[in-house]
Amino acid sequence: MLIILFIYGACIGSGLVALADRYATNTSIFYPTSHCDTCQTPLAYWQLVPILSYLLLRGRCHYCQTIIPATSLLAEFTAGLVLTTLTPATIIPLLWLGLWGYAALCDARTQTFPGWVSWVTIPIMFMMNSPVIVLITIILLVGIHLVWSHWPNPLIGDGDLEIILSYHLLHGITVTAQWLLTASLIAMIYSGTKTRIPFLPFLLVSALGWWLSQ
Ligand SMILES: [Zn+2]
Repeated sequence: MLIILFIYGACIGSGLVALADRYATNTSIFYPTSHCDTCQTPLAYWQLVPILSYLLLRGRCHYCQTIIPATSLLAEFTAGLVLTTLTPATIIPLLWLGLWGYAALCDARTQTFPGWVSWVTIPIMFMMNSPVIVLITIILLVGIHLVWSHWPNPLIGDGDLEIILSYHLLHGITVTAQWLLTASLIAMIYSGTKTRIPFLPFLLVSALGWWLSQ
C-alpha cells in the first residue's frame, strides 16, 4: 500500500510541477502536450514517468541536452513520500500541502501565485475552527486585502500572510511559530544578500520538513 501511495504521490508531484510551469509561462494546461521548454520537442511516453524518466535521462532533455531543473525530481519524490502518510485523518493537511505546494512552485518562478489557492484552502480550514476564529480570520483577510492594494512596496506579500493564516487555522499558534521560525531561518541562509525573495517556497519546505519529521 505504501508503494502504491508513493507512486500516486509522485504522479501528483509531477502534475503540480507541470501546472506551475504552465502558470509561469501563461499557457493553457491542456495544450500543447508536455514538451521540452527549450527545443519545444513533444516528450515521448517514456520521458513522462515521474522520477524514473529524470533518472533515465540523467537530468537532461533527450533531444537538445538542456538541463531539466532538479526541482521536478525533488517535487515528485517529496510528493511521493508525503502521500505515504495518507489516512482518513490526514486528508486535510495533505490537501493543504498539495495546494500550497502548487502555489510555492508558481511563486518560485514568478513571485506570484493563483489567488484561488487562498480562497479554497482557508474556507476548508474554517470547518475545523470555532465561529469566533472564523470571524477574526475573515476580518484579517479583508484587512490584508484592503491595505495591500494601497501599499506600493510592501515588506511581505499578501499571499505570504494568507498562507500563514491558513497554517495557523490548521495547526494552532505554537506549531505555526515553529514553522515560521524554521522557514525564516532557511530563507535567511539561502537568500544571502538578495533583497527580494519568493517566501512561499521556504514556508513550504519548512511545512514539509515538520510534516515528514512527525
Ligand atoms: Zn529539449
